[in-house]
Amino acid sequence: MTKGTPSMGKKNKKVHILCRRCGNATYHATHKECVKCGFGKSSKLKKQGFQNKTLSGARRK
Ligand SMILES: [Zn+2]
Repeated sequence: MTKGTPSMGKKNKKVHILCRRCGNATYHATHKECVKCGFGKSSKLKKQGFQNKTLSGARRK
């Protein structure tokens, strides 16, 4: 399988549609949940831990 321009023609499936809560196109149409805010999965907004990590260069064990 090639990774260049020819394979881009396969990208015609609409997996994520506009989310009703956060407004991003991150709501999975078949799974019925938003990957960004967690809408459909939880009533609270989804938090992503990697977004607020410190930039001090601390390494994970
Ligand atoms: Zn959302």
